[in-house]
Amino acid sequence: MIHLHSLSDLRDWLTKNHNPAFVPTMGALHNGHLSLVRSAKETLKPVLVSIFVNPTQFGPNEDFAAYPRDDAGDAEKLASAGADAVFFPQREDIYPNGKMHPVPALPSVFAEAEGAIRPGHFGGVAQVLYRFFSLIQPSTAFFGQKDYQQALLVKWLIEALSFDVRLVVCPTVREESGLAMSSRNAYLSTEEKDAASTLSAALEQGKRLYEVGERDAGHIGKAVADEILQNPLFTAVDYAEVRDAEHFEKVSWIINPAVLVAAARIGKTRLIDNILIG
Ligand code: AMP
Repeated sequence: MIHLHSLSDLRDWLTKNHNPAFVPTMGALHNGHLSLVRSAKETLKPVLVSIFVNPTQFGPNEDFAAYPRDDAGDAEKLASAGADAVFFPQREDIYPNGKMHPVPALPSVFAEAEGAIRPGHFGGVAQVLYRFFSLIQPSTAFFGQKDYQQALLVKWLIEALSFDVRLVVCPTVREESGLAMSSRNAYLSTEEKDAASTLSAALEQGKRLYEVGERDAGHIGKAVADEILQNPLFTAVDYAEVRDAEHFEKVSWIINPAVLVAAARIGKTRLIDNILIG
């Protein structure tokens, strides 16, 4: 696996590896990330993974400085998973002269759910992806369902800017307990990690309510929030709600395919997860 540390490294590699399959990450890699790499390999295109903790998608009081970093360990994992190249950009490579990119205003739905709790987050994600897609011109880009709203943002970005990129959204990889894998799980104590599976269990329970006939989205969201807060280690539920699976509008009565999304806090750690219903 080739290590690319600069824009000129990247450009050289791209001359022999046009339109690669691309997996953007922030590092601290786990099996969720590696599942994206394995899916990318199935395209038979060269697989390029980026590792960049993107400052513009973190709020001022968030964990940018503390975000787990393990470049050497990540490179080993990527090599074993069969990636062809890993790109470690510098901030200046992504934001030359500190300038932002000309991304159009995001649809209002990206100011809701994660966007409401993390103002500016999706704007930052759109910024970094604009730069990556422009530089790399990937044939296909791989994202996880774990970050459902983000995957919809990528879909919007590709359409709004006519990027010639196919989006593949891969299923959420979980621990045996059901807890969705996340780099931020590294912040959890052993006790918190055990308790954290309450989030996915609550979402499963919400889905079961739908399956036995509940269609009132508010009832399902409240049941999920109540279930999470039954666990004393969870201190807050940021949101637990049913949204349209395609457009992400909040729904009150479930008719079309929907996604049940939730974010909750356990100790100092914030966890998000989702499940498709309908
Ligand atoms: P991140 O490094 O957190 O920015 O994540 C990079 C990519 O990996 C994103 O597309 C995430 O949605 C995806 N991802 C993160 N966790 C998981 C998981 N547990 N299963 C599948 N994909 C994931």
